[in-house]
Amino acid sequence: MQVKPKVKLIRYTADPEATVALAARLCYSDKELDDLTENIMAKDNSKFIARLMDMGHLSPVEHASFTFSIEGVSRAFLAQITRHRIASFSVRSQRYVSESAFNYIIPPAIEAMGAAAVARYEGQMATMMNWYRDWQSALGHGESSNEDARFVLPNACETKMIVTMNARELMHFFELRCCNRAQWEIRAVAWMMLEEAIKVAPNLFSHCGPGCVNGGCPEGAKSCGRAAEVKKQHSEMLKSINTDNK
Ligand SMILES: Cc1cc2nc3c(=O)[nH]c(=O)nc-3n(C[C@H](O)[C@H](O)[C@H](O)COP(=O)(O)OP(=O)(O)OC[C@H]3O[C@@H](n4cnc5c(N)ncnc54)[C@H](O)[C@@H]3O)c2cc1C
Repeated sequence: MQVKPKVKLIRYTADPEATVALAARLCYSDKELDDLTENIMAKDNSKFIARLMDMGHLSPVEHASFTFSIEGVSRAFLAQITRHRIASFSVRSQRYVSESAFNYIIPPAIEAMGAAAVARYEGQMATMMNWYRDWQSALGHGESSNEDARFVLPNACETKMIVTMNARELMHFFELRCCNRAQWEIRAVAWMMLEEAIKVAPNLFSHCGPGCVNGGCPEGAKSCGRAAEVKKQHSEMLKSINTDNK
């Protein structure tokens, strides 16, 4: 069955912005930590956080963590997101969980070709499912047969995962993966993650996204040339979040 990406921010550091502000203020203050904490919790920290970002004083940002559940994504996506070494991952196993009725992702470019192309693609998925079942039964079912039968599965096969990143890593991730140079699936998920992060920590994440959101495109000759379009997408996302929060 075809599935589409679903992203939820399931847990995050309580008061993420106050936590970051406290860690940063501590660096510049001779106050006792209890007094500093009280002061931070009573204050609007937005300007201070903006100043930290401008200065590039980013180690305090590492104290806030964000955990996402991600499903409806392909094993091709898995290969890409797990390149981000500062993140933590738990991924549904293809050894312990049978893929005899696997879900799959259909690339939008194939969907855009119309019903005949989609039917052809789905037929290929069904063929691979049969190959998998065939090897599962030849290998005697169970964990060890799943382990080997999965070698005939496609990259399109759905996976599910829990991903945790601290805010500094998330900022880096958004810069690389919200960019039009990133592959469509990880880009779509990165934008969904960005939206979730902005909802709970707007002062940390509203300025995040590909480099062009905050100025010119840093990609040089590899630029997609669509910075204006990307900026519009970003500002429309911010507007829709502000409307939802009213
Ligand atoms: C458009 C695009 C195309 C890509 N194409 C390819 C490709 O063709 N082939 C391919 O193999 N990969 C490709 N990648 C993956 C890319 O090379 C990185 O592996 C991936 O984006 C993770 O980035 P990162 O290492 O900066 O991030 P993270 O692993 O999240 O690390 C964050 C930062 O921590 C620091 N860091 C982490 N580990 C180390 C370390 N060991 N030493 C020093 N500093 C460290 C670095 O500053 C790094 O930027 C592509 C990525 C993008 C966005």
